[in-house]
Amino acid sequence: MNRKVIIIGSGPAGLTAAIYTARANLEPIVFEGMQPGGQLTITTDVENYPGFPDGIMGPELMDKFRAQAQRFGAECVMKQVTKVDLSERPFKVWVGDELYTGETVIISTGASAKTLGLESEQELMGYGVSACATCDGFFYREKKVLVVGGGDSAMEEAIFLTKFASEVWIVHRRDEFRASKIMVERALANPKIHVHWNTTIAKILGDRQSGVTGAILKDTKTGATREETCDGIFMAIGHRPNTELFRDYLELDPTGYIVTKDGRSLTNIPGVFACGDAQDHIYRQAITAAGSGCMAAIDAERFLEAQT
Ligand code: NAP
Repeated sequence: MNRKVIIIGSGPAGLTAAIYTARANLEPIVFEGMQPGGQLTITTDVENYPGFPDGIMGPELMDKFRAQAQRFGAECVMKQVTKVDLSERPFKVWVGDELYTGETVIISTGASAKTLGLESEQELMGYGVSACATCDGFFYREKKVLVVGGGDSAMEEAIFLTKFASEVWIVHRRDEFRASKIMVERALANPKIHVHWNTTIAKILGDRQSGVTGAILKDTKTGATREETCDGIFMAIGHRPNTELFRDYLELDPTGYIVTKDGRSLTNIPGVFACGDAQDHIYRQAITAAGSGCMAAIDAERFLEAQT
């Protein structure tokens, strides 16, 4: 069966596109991927999504998005797309050997925060380890936190965290920052911000009950290790857009984000639309992703109308 709309990715962008296209009777199928619900499912409390004055847990919010899409007939399948062919319509999308075809494709595959790859980091993600200061900074009022990274994100996250935390330590593996001069100046001028140069995190200490209690830091020059107490650790070592599948067809920027045109969801291929973090490295919020998912749905609907 040739679909009118295939949606790849099930975070706020993809599921909002599903709600809108389903309500427009376009019977979308949503491939939910390896992490149904997307990045919000690895956070805990979401306090900045409008409409939930008491906050809501990330996974619960995404369950609500999905239920709302399904209520209007969206088909959500827990499958991971493994290959696409966007060279002609109908577009082809494979899940292993299974082939699906669609008149339009909405890409909402999101981005993944890069992590250090430590077991302790994985264990405590959402329990004191975070990849989003905007989401979780509020929980660290008068606390001490570490920010890992030396780019603009690390500076930005560190500066943002000083609104809450009493002490912010940037942990950087080299002796100079990659970030822009202005961001570095701004960060270093802040009396709450300090830097551990030539340092990486070897292990994060704590457990899911009490949260993060500290870290084992390693000097990258001498190899010496030492223990440092802290209440939270923010990873700011970059994000990777999940766009590898589309590299042969879509215009990507130098860091891999899908290029969208004219402030809309249009890609370089008519009928293929992109929304959410796969095309946004600036805002990266659930609400902006949801908004762009709505835009992609409306763009897809208009594209289909123009074909008839
Ligand atoms: P980035 O520029 O790639 O910086 C990543 C930082 O993390 C680097 O300092 C890197 O260290 C460090 N790092 C990477 N892997 C690591 C590892 N395994 N262990 C320890 N440290 C590691 O990423 P970003 O800061 O997210 O910025 C991405 C893009 O968005 C950039 O173009 C940036 O300018 C832009 N951005 C702009 C703003 C703004 O202007 N307000 C804000 C945020 C982001 P090394 O330096 O040693 O490689």
